[in-house]
Amino acid sequence: MAEQLHFVLIPLMAQGHMIPMIDLAKLLAEQRVMVSLITTPHNASRFDSVIQRATQSGLQIQVVKIPFPCREVGLPVGCENLDTLSSRDLLKRFYNALGIVFLDGMGCFSLLCSHNVKLHKAHLSVASDTEPFVVPGLPQTVEITRAQLPGAFVSLPDLDDVRNKMQEAEMSAFGVVINSFNELEQGCVEQYQKAIKKKVWTIGPVSLCNKMNLDKFERGNKASIKEQKCMKWLDSKEPRSVIYACLGSLCRLVPAQLIELGLGLEASQQPFIWVVKTSDERAEELEKWFSEQKYEERIKGRGLLIKGWAPQVLILSHPAIGGFITHSGWNSTIESVCSGVPMITWPQFSEQFFNEKLIVQILKIGVGVGVEVSVRWGEEEKLGVLVKKHQVEKAIDMLMDGGEEGENRRVRARELAEIARKSLENGGSSYCNMSLLVRDILEEITKSQ
Ligand code: UDP
Repeated sequence: MAEQLHFVLIPLMAQGHMIPMIDLAKLLAEQRVMVSLITTPHNASRFDSVIQRATQSGLQIQVVKIPFPCREVGLPVGCENLDTLSSRDLLKRFYNALGIVFLDGMGCFSLLCSHNVKLHKAHLSVASDTEPFVVPGLPQTVEITRAQLPGAFVSLPDLDDVRNKMQEAEMSAFGVVINSFNELEQGCVEQYQKAIKKKVWTIGPVSLCNKMNLDKFERGNKASIKEQKCMKWLDSKEPRSVIYACLGSLCRLVPAQLIELGLGLEASQQPFIWVVKTSDERAEELEKWFSEQKYEERIKGRGLLIKGWAPQVLILSHPAIGGFITHSGWNSTIESVCSGVPMITWPQFSEQFFNEKLIVQILKIGVGVGVEVSVRWGEEEKLGVLVKKHQVEKAIDMLMDGGEEGENRRVRARELAEIARKSLENGGSSYCNMSLLVRDILEEITKSQ
């Protein structure tokens, strides 16, 4: 019966959504269902070889390419992914070209937080943007401020109608597939299911479907470092000694802020890999600083700069990695969990402050670098430097040493990684949910016939 099912996946065209969707396509195809991935030519070219390998191994996945109407909506040709947008003004045009979108790339904890804050209007109960309030209806006590809430809480006349359409699409859905595992969400899966009155299937961590190094290496964009060079560098370092710093695929921090991060990494005396994006106009300024300060010479041997795209899952799964400085995007968070790597959280926007609460306060597998407010797109310059070099250095010290507390953090991270791995094995929570997902959809289709 399952063979007759055909899943059509339309990932939102941003790497934080496309990457887990491709993993999901592979996991679904392993359930002997047919999967079609619908995307645009430029985006399809980013994962051609990954899909080719999957189909050669017998999985039924096809990629359907639909031209993206860039010209028609006034976008530069080839601008087919959020990471190619040069300014926030293009965002509305991008969404216009998309037409409809629905995908949830977040965890249940943050989804439940957002849902409950909105429902109870908790954010309106405080007098200022920096006054903390308790997120209602959670199994744990968690406080947040208005300045840390996802952008969706701020009304934006040019984006409100797109957001409303997304919400309508979500409301009409039969259920929600989540890249997480039940044990990670600390009771929030059931609560979220009740809150939205829909089925919720946690079927992750999806990144664990990449078993071979080549699949890990080719996940996402083309890496800006050779696999061998990266592995050789990591192999030369002591186990759990390296700090990996990468702030996601959409990082827009100003050069002055990135310089503080670079100086903090240097001051920490710990070996490190630092991923710096090269895709926006700010990269030039940073590059100038690197050469004027001879930064790369100063860190030679101890620090590795990756300019562009890093093979993140491959790096995180190397035994030399001891800590991850992350913007707390959901994919990065769960990938770190899978590798048992404790985190330094540096949230920027979206639901990342909620994820920070989960990592630092609830799961106790990370320390916060100390960011207090969200960086809204277009307001980066106004906010300037939020985290100083010494804060980075202090957070690294705490994570890598931190006495008994630090050791407990590392032990918990390793234990969670084990639970994550088991959840996808025969009989594990996500393994069972994957079969349930296929069964529930079959049942629903049969009912409606
Ligand atoms: N990623 C990567 N290399 C990079 C930057 C990002 O492989 O240099 C991947 C990362 O592994 C994750 C995704 O891109 O799967 C980023 O998703 P996340 O939800 O963490 O953050 P976003 O980029 O959506 O803010």
